[in-house]
Amino acid sequence: MSLNETHDPELKSWVDSANLDGADFPIQNLPLAVFRLRVSDESFRGGVAIGDQVLDLARLAEAKAFDSEINELLQLCADSSLNAFMARGAAASSALRLALSSALREGSDLQDRLQPCLIAQDLVEYSLPCRIGDYTDFYTSVNHATNVGKLFRPDNPLLPNYKWVPIGYHGRASSIGVSGQEIHRPLGQTKAPDADSPSFGPCQRLDYETEVGIYIGAGNELGERIAIDDAENHVFGYCIFNDWSARDIQAWEYQPLGPFLSKSFASTVSPWIVTSEALLPYRSEWSRAADDPQPLAYLDSEQNRSQGAIDLKLQTYLHSAKMRADGDAPHLLGESNFSQSYWSVAQMVTHHTVNGCNLQAGDFFGSGTQSGTGDDELGSMLEITQGGKQALELPNGEIRKFLIDGDCIIMSAYCEKPGAARIGFGSASATILPVS
Ligand code: CA
Repeated sequence: MSLNETHDPELKSWVDSANLDGADFPIQNLPLAVFRLRVSDESFRGGVAIGDQVLDLARLAEAKAFDSEINELLQLCADSSLNAFMARGAAASSALRLALSSALREGSDLQDRLQPCLIAQDLVEYSLPCRIGDYTDFYTSVNHATNVGKLFRPDNPLLPNYKWVPIGYHGRASSIGVSGQEIHRPLGQTKAPDADSPSFGPCQRLDYETEVGIYIGAGNELGERIAIDDAENHVFGYCIFNDWSARDIQAWEYQPLGPFLSKSFASTVSPWIVTSEALLPYRSEWSRAADDPQPLAYLDSEQNRSQGAIDLKLQTYLHSAKMRADGDAPHLLGESNFSQSYWSVAQMVTHHTVNGCNLQAGDFFGSGTQSGTGDDELGSMLEITQGGKQALELPNGEIRKFLIDGDCIIMSAYCEKPGAARIGFGSASATILPVS
């Protein structure tokens, strides 16, 4: 994959809203989602975002506006999940991107054919873009791992394996939902440090985690390893990911086998998958401090070092029930950048398959909570309030140690730099409801 005409920052679309400054979905982005008209009994099908519109790929397939190769790909995208298209790999994704980029450009002959396939994003609802077979949650932010480790082990926050192994665990795929979710506060077992025995009841330390979600495209056969320089060919694209966490349940259950019910009750993705190709202008150097352990050979390559990182900014906002009622704007909780990740996505893919584990189209990785080094760059309440020890005062006077019922968490993400078109990810939002 390399930069090509679809990344040209000068490109403009005949869809005017795509050309507005700061638009998330200019013609250089072209992310995919699965959608239908809101509150309808229509079938869900694939769509591509352009400005404030969705290009309906099922209707476009019927219009037969393209050659047979592209039309076949559009047929795959007409399905209610994109797995079959994702499985076709990077070349297919790139071919469709080029065709749609050409057809949506100012002056395209195909404008009249595509115009009837546009639907305003305001009118649609989304489902998950694919069937997620397996979900693996990594832990790639060394700042987050250090911040959390410090709460438990002030003198030795990072465990000895952290700088050698991309740490991860097997998450729950069935409870991943799409932005707009309402999530009931989970119940569970917790144990206060000074109590003799655990108690059962509503989670008291409900938290969010600001993460990048990664969708696998073409998979690998069981027993086959994906080499580091081939890893990017297996990554279909990216989204925003909120990996909700019940910290009190987690503290009691997580040893010795890791998180379980503290994580499996809900996770929220943004609807749109921004493809790996759309992110190419934002690849940057991946480096490892000289006095840190260097990656073992299977996790290291010139290509990974020269372009393994992604300059992707993440923002998380809290919009409480009171703020919404009073007409107040959401409050920015933290801003971080995925480029600070200790491990690259290629290293995650390669490590995941080094034992012969097979990845499948639609499999999903969480990057782990992304935190920077500053107090305003933290990706969870656990870090902001130092485990609930330091209350956060919101601009309207509300106080939080963890999330309360009615809180809405909104995450957004974007890439921006001189010489490239700004592209956005849309948002992932969800609201906490009381125990059901
Ligand atoms: Ca997580």
